[in-house]
Amino acid sequence: MIYITRKVEFCASHRLYNPDFPDDKNAAVFGLCNNPNGHGHNYCMEVTVKGEVDPETGMVLDLKALKALINEEIINKVDHKNFNMDVEFMKGVIPTAENIAIKFWEILEPKIQRGQLHEIKLYESERNFVTYRGTYSERFDREPSRTIG
Ligand SMILES: [Zn+2]
Repeated sequence: MIYITRKVEFCASHRLYNPDFPDDKNAAVFGLCNNPNGHGHNYCMEVTVKGEVDPETGMVLDLKALKALINEEIINKVDHKNFNMDVEFMKGVIPTAENIAIKFWEILEPKIQRGQLHEIKLYESERNFVTYRGTYSERFDREPSRTIG
């Protein structure tokens, strides 16, 4: 088993809030990310696929194909967009790095042609990042209280 990673960057804005919380609780829970008019981040994402080396090509998968898939399914839909208002697959979801990484996983995982999606690492800033390996999707689906309308 070997792991291969594609790293991409994009810019997007968001506002973190839960419509079920009063304003002061939203401010306390989400801090600067609760700014009413939103704010931007320079996101960085690492998509790691695991698999065996194909003896005919010497590769797990073609990185050009992975690049095209990530661009088509993710980057074209989120770059220079607002996660709360412009991104269809984030509708009703609080756009934390955690939830964004989970959504990206759900989109990419069934579309990886060779090998298997192993990990999505999403940096919201240089120091803050989340790592997702697909293990919480069932829990996420069962928790409608985590979504917003
Ligand atoms: Zn933020």
